Amino acid sequence: MSITSVNPATNETIREFEPLHKDDAMQAIETAHKAFEEWRATSFDERKKCILKFAELLRADSDEYARMITLDMGKRISESQYEIEYCANIAEFYANGAEEFLADTPMERVDANAYLHYEPIGVLMGVMPWNFPFYQVVRFATPNIMAGNTVMVKHASNVPQCAAAIEELYNDCGLPNGVYQNLFIPSDFVDSIISDSRVQGVSLTGSEPAGRAVAAQAGKNLKRSVLELGGNDPFIVLEDADMELVIEQAAKGRMVNAGQSCVASKRFIVVKEVAEQFMNGFKEKLQALKLGDPMDEETTLSPLSTEDAAVKLQEQVQSSINAGATVVLGGDRPDREGAFFNPTILTDVTPDNPTFDQELFGPVATVYVVDDEAAAIELANHSSYGLGGSVYTTDIQRGRRVAEKVETGMMFLNQPTSSQAELPFGGIKNSGYGRELSHLGILEFVNKKLIHLG
Ligand code: NDP
Repeated sequence: MSITSVNPATNETIREFEPLHKDDAMQAIETAHKAFEEWRATSFDERKKCILKFAELLRADSDEYARMITLDMGKRISESQYEIEYCANIAEFYANGAEEFLADTPMERVDANAYLHYEPIGVLMGVMPWNFPFYQVVRFATPNIMAGNTVMVKHASNVPQCAAAIEELYNDCGLPNGVYQNLFIPSDFVDSIISDSRVQGVSLTGSEPAGRAVAAQAGKNLKRSVLELGGNDPFIVLEDADMELVIEQAAKGRMVNAGQSCVASKRFIVVKEVAEQFMNGFKEKLQALKLGDPMDEETTLSPLSTEDAAVKLQEQVQSSINAGATVVLGGDRPDREGAFFNPTILTDVTPDNPTFDQELFGPVATVYVVDDEAAAIELANHSSYGLGGSVYTTDIQRGRRVAEKVETGMMFLNQPTSSQAELPFGGIKNSGYGRELSHLGILEFVNKKLIHLG
């Protein structure tokens, strides 16, 4: 197994990391377990001090961490800088809010003598992806550390520089040894870790197959799990929408992180009255994107995370074309070194097309024209995924009505789904279960203990 940082803009190897021996990985559980016994007894103030320091350290060297993200997985440097700042915000949100989120909750409405008391449950395992290599980890680890749990993280094998830097940050901010550990392990060690009786839960963000494997193991061992998997977010455009805004948001929503976001807008469902206007404007926007070096501020479309990812996307697009899809723009890779993919628009992707219900993790949009609002909702719900989505209309009541009928975990009006520390994030159907961020995110791995005073 190789744990290697390869710059996807050039396909050059930057650094290799030594994987952990299985015995050492199992030893890490003992370290995390011992740390838990002490960490659970600390006060919120002690935890808060460390996590605020973590945010301060992130900001102090934000340029260095942003560079690391861009080198490991290729996103544009301005997006990497934003990711670091956002992580600092998440850390501050939980540092400042945890005590309130986990305060005893009286149940006086039903029983004046009863209340809920929240307790940490122990060692948690996080399996994390490469697409937002700092954010995904911080989103999982920080609330759980503030709740008094200890965490171990198996990061994606293509972002090892980030994985090592995050561990260093959690250590340097004053957390005791073992509260946060990075494990350089292959994914096939994860089963043994989940099965260990000292591990109490697992959180995975990644693909559906990885989610199924981890959830199966968690279920077999009766462990709690949170899954944040793929999405195929609908972007619904109604005839009364502000089309200038729509076109702006469509390009932004699809091309965030070069299209490699679980909540990127992926299926553009447009009512027929405005379909032509949408297609012309959207195509013009995507055509104007400038592929290039993600370190260059002028670049507006970066490479994908790895050469393998670009090859996989090309295969998916080709299979879609073979099954009858029409290429309106792109459809192929540019003739240059690096994991680049041209901005692409497909139409005529019918339900029998193999890509109809697949997540296309890159700069590929699928556009559908429908008769009316009801048909738009029906098509939006014709998906095994249910993560996010958005609806575009100048009538707020209509927007609410549509948003409430779409089967997803998150719906946004007149802007693509995005993530904020204060708001819950998560999906339904094959997009997973559980919620991250907000006050809900810190409640996933705590014992909500009922205490009755008799
Ligand atoms: P994976 O799901 O394979 O990787 C995510 C994480 O899960 C990595 O740490 C990976 O480790 C680990 N992993 C993979 N398989 C297992 C397993 N059986 N047991 C335990 N851990 C496992 O995603 P990919 O990088 O392969 O991306 C494939 C697709 O997944 C994308 O095209 C996209 O559709 C989706 N995806 C969705 C994300 C999201 O934000 N929801 C993020 C990333 C991907 P390792 O790297 O060592 O294989």
